[in-house]
Amino acid sequence: MEQFKGQPRLPKFAVPKRYDVRLKPDLVACKFSGSVYIDLDIVADTKFIVLNAAELSVNAGSVSFAHGGLSKVFKPSKAETFEDDGILVLEFVEMLPIGSGVLVIEFEGILNDKMKGFYRSTYEHNGEKKNMAVTQFEPVDARRCFPCWDEPACKATFKITLDGVPSELVALSNMPIQEEKLNGHLKTVSYMETPIMSTYLVAIVVGLFDYVEDHTSDGVKVRVYCQVGKADQGKFALHVAVKTLELCTEYFAVPYPLPKLDMVAIPDLSFGAMENYGLVTYREIVLLFDEQHSAAANKQRVTIAVAHELAHQWFGNLVTKEWWTHLWLNEGFATWVSYLAADSLFPEWKIWTQFLDEVAAGLKLDGLEESHPIEVEINHAAEIDEVFDAISYKKGATVIRMLQSYLGAEVFQRSLASYIKKHAYSNAKTEDLWAALEEGSGEPVNKPMNSWTQQKGYPVISVKVKDQKLEFDQTQFYSSGSQGDGQWIVPITLSCGSYDVRKNFLLQAKSETLDIKEFLGCSVGKAGCGGISNKDNALCSWIKVNVDQTGFYRVKYEDELAAALRNAIEKKQLSETDRFGILDDSFALSMSRKQSFASLLTLLNWQHVRNRLQHFPKLQWWHRSLQWPITSQMGTKRTIGRFWCAFHPELPATHKNSIKNRPANKKMEGKGIPGTPVAGFQARLPALSAWSCSV
Ligand SMILES: [Zn+2]
Repeated sequence: MEQFKGQPRLPKFAVPKRYDVRLKPDLVACKFSGSVYIDLDIVADTKFIVLNAAELSVNAGSVSFAHGGLSKVFKPSKAETFEDDGILVLEFVEMLPIGSGVLVIEFEGILNDKMKGFYRSTYEHNGEKKNMAVTQFEPVDARRCFPCWDEPACKATFKITLDGVPSELVALSNMPIQEEKLNGHLKTVSYMETPIMSTYLVAIVVGLFDYVEDHTSDGVKVRVYCQVGKADQGKFALHVAVKTLELCTEYFAVPYPLPKLDMVAIPDLSFGAMENYGLVTYREIVLLFDEQHSAAANKQRVTIAVAHELAHQWFGNLVTKEWWTHLWLNEGFATWVSYLAADSLFPEWKIWTQFLDEVAAGLKLDGLEESHPIEVEINHAAEIDEVFDAISYKKGATVIRMLQSYLGAEVFQRSLASYIKKHAYSNAKTEDLWAALEEGSGEPVNKPMNSWTQQKGYPVISVKVKDQKLEFDQTQFYSSGSQGDGQWIVPITLSCGSYDVRKNFLLQAKSETLDIKEFLGCSVGKAGCGGISNKDNALCSWIKVNVDQTGFYRVKYEDELAAALRNAIEKKQLSETDRFGILDDSFALSMSRKQSFASLLTLLNWQHVRNRLQHFPKLQWWHRSLQWPITSQMGTKRTIGRFWCAFHPELPATHKNSIKNRPANKKMEGKGIPGTPVAGFQARLPALSAWSCSV
């Protein structure tokens, strides 16, 4: 039995096809009992069946394997659980021959309070504290609810039945109810069998809920379940869900695969939300919107969260990652689609400007030497949780957007639809998506994208003009200023003089030189702003690389190009997004000593740049300025302080004056930012404001 310990994956002797799971939760005693009948194919002669189980007490006497072909029942001589590996090893005296059969296991477990597996969450009803039973199986906790092959590639169908449910409670699972039998004040609820799916997407919720309901134009029933009395607060999410299902059906060109979608607000949930197939769970704060009391910004949070989870119903649930190594694609993709959907439902929000928060946060994290590639080899179940970090979500979403922007929206969508169709009800690896996009676009995708997913970090692209040539050079960016030797295949986008003049190319080597006339149809001259001009000195007055900040890289412009861009900013020829990008890059380059501080300050001096910045909701740029290590000379600190004091938009002028005039703050002069390091932007704000206005 020892040979099965410490392995990354289960051995492949047996393949599950169908689970018949019966569970009897006891919400008062906080435990459950159950049985599972698993239809298996034995694919290699073996004395062992190895599957996953954790924190379950398996009734060894109940375990049997009925071999279909032989009409014979095998009983294991040993049944042992190895908790460290989350596996249950069944050893048989005789060899189990190839063929199909049914494995039966009875077990008991605890409705735990750890928010994983089959757990209890609490709510109040009529002033009384009550338990509800909830599941959270991703990544590897289905095994805490019933013994199973708990790997995303081991897809099967699930027939679920709940016993002993108090009749007044709502009992939900992935599929609609097939039959409900009342027995006194308890009921047995059985659900329709699911399509082929992965174990981590199986879900059960038992509790007291109200709901609101609507239908998509295809007739899919959508409900939002909330605590009793809060159903109205589910109406906004319901609206978003119906619209997003319709949108995704069109975008992926495949209908929503299940007959219903339920979304449930859960008081205790380890993630913000979980995309269980047909039964999505959310933290209450992520799903509910109170028209009377919620801030308008919460609408965006609800929309992004709902759209993210519903995108997974196709990208993740219908087509599932083959292994956890590809988790980044699942999460990055759903994050990107959530913005796509939000932009389509509420164009007035200009949500892509807020996507810059994801990009900026991704660039910040990935600029650290301790970063990791977004595609990480997973060797043990215990490592999976570590992969669920901001790198997977934020950099993942950004490199997908970079690719979409490079290939073009239409080609991208068409290729994606064929990928979904090809791998539906099955599993795929990252390279399967790249293959579909290569086929659809005729462009290389696999090799360029591997350079982004399999190595950490990103480049800074230096751009300069020399002898009518445009020179590009890439070096790895580290916020510490260190040298890295990474190299990428960079999808470069650039606009020249106007957003109508747009060019793309792949920077494949460390450096590349393009003939300006050939590439852009213009030449360099001293006319106009002193930058670049076309033949009649009218069009190519500036060059902006990384148009709309869709790329995951920074850009450093040589002086002449930078001057032309400053001129374009002054003439309001650049989009808000591009202005933000230029500033963000300039700031990061200055802080890492890759560019002079003076050039940042020159850029900052543009009054309207400053004004426009205030429209960015989270002010990432300012946020970062607070984290700048205080290592430079006092003069620079003072300059930054003055800028902060003058620009900080949340600080009214009167407040600034009052801070400045406080005696205590006058004394702070020359003492650096007080109170640093303090976690969090808000925590630092008063101290920073006081300091900045005192220098
Ligand atoms: Zn997700």
